[in-house]
This record gives sequence, C-alpha cells and structure tokens, in this order.
Amino acid sequence: MPQPRPAFSASSDPPLPFALPDIGEEEIAAVVEALRSGWLTTGPAAAAFEAEFAAAMGPGRHAVAVNSATAGLHLALEAAGIGPGDEVLVPDWTFTATAEVVRYLDAHPVVVDVDAHTLNIDLAAAEAAITPRTRAIIPVHFAGLPVDAAALADLARRRGLSVVEDAAHAFPAASARGPVGAGPSEAVVFSFYATKTMTTGEGGMVLTGDPDLAARVRTMRLHGISRDVFARYAAGAAGSSWAYDVVAPGFKYNLTDPAAALGRVQLRRAPAMRDARAATAARYDAAFADVSLDLPAQPPPGVEHAWHLYVVRLRDDAPVSRDEFIDAMAARGIGCSVHFTPLHRMSYWRDAYALSPAAFPRAQEAFGRVVSLPLSSALTGAQVDRVVDAVRDVLAGGS
Ligand SMILES: *Cc1c(COP(=O)(O)O)cnc(C)c1O
Repeated sequence: MPQPRPAFSASSDPPLPFALPDIGEEEIAAVVEALRSGWLTTGPAAAAFEAEFAAAMGPGRHAVAVNSATAGLHLALEAAGIGPGDEVLVPDWTFTATAEVVRYLDAHPVVVDVDAHTLNIDLAAAEAAITPRTRAIIPVHFAGLPVDAAALADLARRRGLSVVEDAAHAFPAASARGPVGAGPSEAVVFSFYATKTMTTGEGGMVLTGDPDLAARVRTMRLHGISRDVFARYAAGAAGSSWAYDVVAPGFKYNLTDPAAALGRVQLRRAPAMRDARAATAARYDAAFADVSLDLPAQPPPGVEHAWHLYVVRLRDDAPVSRDEFIDAMAARGIGCSVHFTPLHRMSYWRDAYALSPAAFPRAQEAFGRVVSLPLSSALTGAQVDRVVDAVRDVLAGGS
C-alpha cells in the first residue's frame, strides 16, 4: 500500500534537516582504524588531536581534549579557582550550559543582556553588573562572530576578572588580535557536538596559554589522577606501571580515541568547511537583501566569522510571525531552529535568580524575531537554492 504523504510536508523533495552533518569516507576510515588499533579510550589519537589543535592556534598553546564543551567549561572554571558564592558574568543569549557550569561549582551566574546587533554579551552592561564577589566572565562568540577581543581584555584587566571563553560556535574564527583560542583569556573552550562547525559526535577542547591551568584541567578531567605522579611511578622500576596517585576528587571528562580520530580529520578539513559555510552565508545575504529580514551581523574588517549559525530576524512588515515562518518552512520540508531562547525565559534560571524580561530588553526583543536557517558545510548548491526559494516564497506571503 502506498504510504500517505506526511501532513507536515507539502514538498516533494526529501526533508532538509536544520543541521546536516559533514562526515565523509575519510572520517569513517579514521574511526575504523582507531577501533582496530585497540585503543578504545583516551590514547595516542587523543594526544595527537591535542597536539594538532594546539599547533593550529599558534605557539605556546596547550590543548586538553574533553568529552564535551560543557565539561571543558566546568574544568576551566574549576582551574581558574571559581568556588562557592563567587559571581560569574554570562550572557542571557546562550545555551544553558554556559550558566549551568557556574552552578556546578556552587557559584552564581549573573545574567547580562546582549548587544542588539551582534547578540554577543554587552560588555558595558557586564561591567555595570560587577560586584565585590564577581570573579569571572564567560563571553559567548554567538553564531561564530568573535566578541570584541580588545574590549574584553581591557575589561578583564581593569576589573581583575578571569575570562573563560565559550567558543562553542567559534572554530575557526579570529578577532583582529588573532585566532579565537590564542588570546590572553585564562581558557577558551570549543565544542565538537554533532551540530557544531567540526564534530567528534560529542567532544570539546580546552585551550590555554597557562601550563599550570592546563595541568589542572588535565588532572581533573580524569578522576584527579596526577599524570606527573603517574609518570614518575611508571618511569621507575619495570612492572610498577599499575601505580598512580589521586590528588583531588576529579571528574570523568576524557575524550575517547575513536572520537579523537574523527576530530583529527575534521580539524584538517576545518578551513575548507568554514569557507563552504561562509560562501553559503554570502549567498543568503545576497538573496535576502530585499526581503523583510534583518540579516546577521557581519564581521568588522580583520575579523573572521566561523559562520556556525545564520540567524535572521523577521521585521515588523513581514507577512508572518516568527513561529508561522518556521511552520511554513517545515511545510516546505526545511528545518529551521531558534538560537536561543534566552536564559531569562527558562523556568529554572528565571525562578532561581528572579530574572525579569524587563532587565533584558534587547534579548527579549530579538527572541520574538530570530530564526536560524540551515547552514552546514555539507549543503549542496541545490539545497541552498531550495532554502532561498522557500524563504522568499514564505515572505512573499505564500502559505
Ligand atoms: C553547544 C553549546 C555548548 C555546549 O557544548 P557541548 O559540547 O554540547 O557540551 C555550550 N555553549 C554554547 C553556546 C553552545 O552552543
């Protein structure tokens, strides 16, 4: 019997998911090789991945692989000495992970409104929210557009804040001062979650220029087992390699070798994948110049955008609301998303910290309008054309 056509799709084309993974035969072969090698947990592939990632950032960088960016943010804050009662500045416009890691340490996130144009944390608002308990700031490079590196470093220096950058969207990206991941912040954390610009399925990387911070993250990522002590024992009498010491109650946040093997291939492909996303973003910019959309903030001269997300905002004169737009795109078989529902609208954060919409006027205003369109290095030209046609059709009033 013929299957009834699903009611949600008026399109004859197969559904185009919002986030299309970009995994090829090279990645598959690398994972198979890792499986055949016998190293299923953290081993030589993870070490090579760390070395290659650090090298991609420039000289003097330390990279520690972890099993998520959330884990990396937690470890970086722990290593920076954040503890009970401390306050940490975070943007309203982010994924909950940015704020939840602060609670892991019994510290308190202080949620700050964003810049209306970039949707990155408003550094003036952040400075105004500083109290005697404020210890750190976690800026998010939203969509892959770097936060103003000079202003961030200036704020941190003047007010004595530690900086842990949430760079989940920002590989590869660069501010006018150099690559995101190579600056003066205590730590920069990248995500290799399935939908991010490069992926290991689940995974992340902590970057720092501070060897002591790197050592602490390395120890705490694996149960607080001291590698130094381990190495000392192991270097001793043959047969003593079973010996290790535990120097702190650490966590289980290490990255596996099969995941690292996948990451090494994605890392090599990262510049080409970024160029593909940038080309799609430019195609969208040109195609939507004359419709009722505000287009994403462009990088200033000398700044490199990672183009993880392409976020448009519906104008008042658009014929549909944001929610109707997403439904109309779904009816055309095209998946869209919303980045983000601001923290102040999430019940836990709203209730625990008495967050009121009035305190976040710019995030509140943007939230009603934003839509993330499909953006992936795996999109074909025909798929991009299909998104363009669907957006133009919906905004022309097509139902
Ligand atoms: C995806 C994401 C994270 C979390 O990354 P994981 O690797 O899934 O832990 C953190 N912050 C932001 C802004 C993200 O988009």
